Amino acid sequence: MKSAWVDADARALVSRYAADGLAGDLALRVYTTRLLGRDPKLVLHGGGNTSVKTRVTDLNGETLDVLCVKGSGCDMGRIEPAGLPAVRLDNLRKLRARDALSDEDMVKVQRANLLDPMAPNPSVETLLHAFLPHRFVDHTHATAVLGLVDQDNSRELCEEVYGARMGFVRYIMPGFALAKEAADVFDADPKVEGLILDKHGLFTFGESARDAYERMIEMVTLAEQRLARNRKSVFVSATLPNEIGAVSEVAPILRGAVALPDHRTQGAWKRLVLDFRTNDAILNFVNGAELARYATSGVITPDHTIRTKNWPMIAPSPDAAKLHDFKQAARVAAAEFVERYVDYFERNNARAGDRKTMLDPAPRVILVPGLGLFGLGRSKKDARVAADLAEAAVEGITEAEAIGRYSPIGEADMFDVEYWSLEQAKLGGAKELPLAGQVAVITGAAGAIGFATAKAFAAAGAEIALLDIDGAALVEAAKSFGGSALSVRGDVTDDASVRTAFDRITEAFGGVDILVSNAGAAFQGKIGAVDDMTLRKSFELNFFSHQRVAQHAVRIMLAQGTGGCLLFNASKQAINPGPDFGPYGLPKAATLFLARQYALDYGAEGIRSNAVNADRIRSGLLTDDFIAERAKARGVSETDYMSGNLLRREVTADDVAQAFLHQALALKTTADVTTVDGGNIAAALR
Ligand SMILES: [Zn+2]
Repeated sequence: MKSAWVDADARALVSRYAADGLAGDLALRVYTTRLLGRDPKLVLHGGGNTSVKTRVTDLNGETLDVLCVKGSGCDMGRIEPAGLPAVRLDNLRKLRARDALSDEDMVKVQRANLLDPMAPNPSVETLLHAFLPHRFVDHTHATAVLGLVDQDNSRELCEEVYGARMGFVRYIMPGFALAKEAADVFDADPKVEGLILDKHGLFTFGESARDAYERMIEMVTLAEQRLARNRKSVFVSATLPNEIGAVSEVAPILRGAVALPDHRTQGAWKRLVLDFRTNDAILNFVNGAELARYATSGVITPDHTIRTKNWPMIAPSPDAAKLHDFKQAARVAAAEFVERYVDYFERNNARAGDRKTMLDPAPRVILVPGLGLFGLGRSKKDARVAADLAEAAVEGITEAEAIGRYSPIGEADMFDVEYWSLEQAKLGGAKELPLAGQVAVITGAAGAIGFATAKAFAAAGAEIALLDIDGAALVEAAKSFGGSALSVRGDVTDDASVRTAFDRITEAFGGVDILVSNAGAAFQGKIGAVDDMTLRKSFELNFFSHQRVAQHAVRIMLAQGTGGCLLFNASKQAINPGPDFGPYGLPKAATLFLARQYALDYGAEGIRSNAVNADRIRSGLLTDDFIAERAKARGVSETDYMSGNLLRREVTADDVAQAFLHQALALKTTADVTTVDGGNIAAALR
């Protein structure tokens, strides 16, 4: 590992922040924190922190000694000075005289000593930083060092690699006790350049930002060099099926297997979103004959437990020719995971005085021999984090096994981190959005109604896949989701194109829960004179494409086995024909019937099917020019034309989107047609 320090960059950052009145040492603290945070082999998703001891002047004009330490939740790779809140150092140091301090009191005293009461919570490792005398202190969970410390003989290995240069701190959960122990180890030999934390990571320190940072690089490099010596070949491969099932087929089966029924509402599920990863290192790991031993013995560093749980679920290897068997076996594996998790909780909760609330027992990582791994989360973002940490675990465990035998913290220690009182206190605090964990596909997503519906579903917490034939419009639509939506260019009238689109969606999210079949176009012609071609083209788009996307969505929903929701844009024409609109109204009437047929045929599977009947929405079908023309033909103003309904209100794409959202949320509603037209008695359903 090489130092990424560049003098010119460091100087540039110091002068840039000097313009804002920021001291040079804090600017350099920002600089090396970013260097650490940008290297995933050192820091992943909050797994590390840094500090600098400096002096600041408060609002009374008094100069104070402070510790500027990373705030919790700040991304080190992109940290700004505000992400390193200043805490009064003397008051922190006084705490070392205490015998004990609860985590709640620790957080309280840290917050009470913030100079800015609005600043983020200082890291839970703040006291460790405060009790060390050095100006700059750096902490990471470097994967290479975890390869050394996650061994039974970690102390001897560290002595071999570092000699007397690094102190060795036995495993203690982060908090006051660890801070005190680390300070005692340092005091016993103040010549050390850093501390190794058994089963957790390392600290380095120095009088300059560069010294502390480059010591970190050096100590991690020494670990890498040790891991490169005397390696044994790891992971003899297990026997696997000849042909492994595709991710697009396997993911929905796994996603369904790990979904948990939400007992508060019949028909509701707690679903997870998936993030798939594979490469040679992952395959080498998941294909190993001893996978169950090394993969389920625990996390490589304690804070992973919050995001990945303590061990992954191991799925059976999916034989492409026997996916039905795979589905059964995946369900058994998921049930066993839950059972093991509940046992683990009950055993350890009894030790903790039965005071803890069990988290959901679904896995956050699934290993699939022959295929790769999945990270899982209630959102795509959380799934990605779990997958990143799982990849780091693959690397750390592979390294540990190459030089010895992987041996992480034990079950009781993992439980104490997973059920840490401060994490428990957060439970029930944040309200989840109603569609959290669900994947919605919207066709015609770049058009007015599709786009408004996608926005409404995203705001309700769903993961969004935008499907449209117009690539340029799709790029434009995707922009307003800030990269969080998946865009898939596809033609709903082409079966191969739809198949590819749904494969991409399941590969990206693991499945589909809601389909909004919205793509369509208006075709006109007097029914007695219209040519066959026009009518057939309209049926292809306004009926068969609805059937095609619904079939694919249902195929995936059945693989999941957790129900689902089909929503069709039927249009007022399906009920109340307009003159010369036969070519449009006829297939729409068939689509309305299609919605009811799906409701009937798949109700027993928990798949609901509903339609929205909208009229006169300003959109690609009803352009401004077209509105002007129709209004003129009727001798009314455009406003009167658009609000020519019982309520005299213009109906918008957002109104239609809200109707779709209502249908997606109404778990006891199927075969429904919701009219969104401002009131048109001739088009009223009866
Ligand atoms: Zn740590």
